[in-house]
Amino acid sequence: MESKIKIGIIICDRYRTCAGGKCFRALRNREGAFSIYEGKDVELVGYTTCDGCPGGNIEYTADEMMRNGAEVIHFATGMLVGYPPCPYIETFKNFLEHRYRIKVVSGTHPIPQKYRDTHFELGTWNDIKWQALLEPTMTTEKIRKAYD
Ligand code: SF4
Repeated sequence: MESKIKIGIIICDRYRTCAGGKCFRALRNREGAFSIYEGKDVELVGYTTCDGCPGGNIEYTADEMMRNGAEVIHFATGMLVGYPPCPYIETFKNFLEHRYRIKVVSGTHPIPQKYRDTHFELGTWNDIKWQALLEPTMTTEKIRKAYD
């Protein structure tokens, strides 16, 4: 086992009452965006919300997470699959990567199949920019269905 990787998670404030069930399950199983940690030890050192549109907490929360040793920040999958998906997600990612020089991963748990199907029907993710943002959590149909 390599040295422990410390991560933080930022969730969409629309889901601020979420207990993190899918995220913690996926982290435990190394599924979705957490598959990059397969075989590695991971510690969650921060968990918070963006504080509501337009994400005022994004500017400050990475600093607090990094003081706890965070090396990677994950945007929760809710930011990708909400209706609508977060319109600021690219801005947030660019900001954190440039301001704090920290790795940012879009997504946490696998995208549930029912959300994937609805967004495909709506054409939400037709813009090319979504491909890279969705890639870590699209996984397989079997895994997506397990997160419905
Ligand atoms: S849509 Fe984006 S900015 Fe708005 S509450 Fe959700 S994560 Fe925050």
